[in-house]
Amino acid sequence: MSGCIIYPPTEFMSLGLTVKDIFAHWLGSENEFFIQYHIKRSTITLLVHSILPLGSREFIHDSFFSGYIVGLIYLDHIDVAKLLFTGESPIRLLIVIYITIGPLCMLNEIGEWFIHDWALHPIAQNLSAYSNSNTSWITVACDINTEYRRVDKLIIITNSITRIVVTDNWIIKVTPYKLYVAHQNDTTLVVNKSDTHVMSPTTRDQVQYINIQVSSLRAMTQGFDIRLNALTFEDLQDKVSRPIIVSQNITFHKTMLDLFIDTFKKEVDKNPFYETVQELERCIGCMQAFSNIKLMKLCNNSIGNRHHYDCEMCYCRPMWCVECMAKWFASKQDDNELDTWLSSKCTCPVCRAPFCILDVCYVRVPND
Ligand SMILES: [Zn+2]
Ligand SMILES: [Zn+2]
Ligand SMILES: [Zn+2]
Repeated sequence: MSGCIIYPPTEFMSLGLTVKDIFAHWLGSENEFFIQYHIKRSTITLLVHSILPLGSREFIHDSFFSGYIVGLIYLDHIDVAKLLFTGESPIRLLIVIYITIGPLCMLNEIGEWFIHDWALHPIAQNLSAYSNSNTSWITVACDINTEYRRVDKLIIITNSITRIVVTDNWIIKVTPYKLYVAHQNDTTLVVNKSDTHVMSPTTRDQVQYINIQVSSLRAMTQGFDIRLNALTFEDLQDKVSRPIIVSQNITFHKTMLDLFIDTFKKEVDKNPFYETVQELERCIGCMQAFSNIKLMKLCNNSIGNRHHYDCEMCYCRPMWCVECMAKWFASKQDDNELDTWLSSKCTCPVCRAPFCILDVCYVRVPND
């Protein structure tokens, strides 16, 4: 039970049995006051975790006992206390004292933070490293809060207790007890480790994790590590304004889809061009690249006979980029028959005319 509170499994999260769900009312809005929210959340998490050992029945019994003894010592009845200890093993006694004193020390610490308006809280201390001469950590907190409210922030959930938040200027790692912050301007990011795991023995799918070391040039700041799925690396790279350095010994594994897209492009390269004077618009799949693909029936239907249908002419104007067309092609294939993907057929995403890889042509605008 204690384990599930500290490291909540998905069932606990969906039932709302996490510290932040139970105390949601007191914590306030994360979106409005990001830093203040996490100061409160980490404090309550620390407190809850420190009293967890008391939760066990055996421990409750023992701690009442030790509380009683501490009381006796306090009241100068040491002899009585000694008498009561007879037969108790010292290790057991140490544990009991530890789990009783732990929450008390924690309460004392939290009281200190509260009296000083959270300025002594580790999160506030971390932020104060970024405050300029005459400003307090609150100014930094306000800046981060403002950026967090923006819709274009990037949030990567790396596991059930850790999240990475990237705003326009800040990189923040949210952990149960702490927030690690780094201002993008004076930060270096280095991918220094990677490890690959096979997801299941039946599929060839692998999952790769990378470790990014975030270190700030500013004095008094704490560096930290980000561990994330290699697939989310590109999102991070897009959002961070600084280049992320990749150590030479790190290679990113390509997914099956990436490998297929590469092969698809190589095959399309072999086909003739489609020439047009039409102005090319953005690809309607990704809205990023310009469309550069036209489907044209060029094959003699010799491949893909097992489909019992022939390729047909597509009269659509160029609307897709090669990447999106490759992804569309892949999405229509059977996952269990990887070897036959390239020799299979697909249908035009708009007019549904069947086509094969030989009918996919790059568009060329003359004089361009
Ligand atoms: Zn596209
Ligand atoms: Zn079409
Ligand atoms: Zn064809």
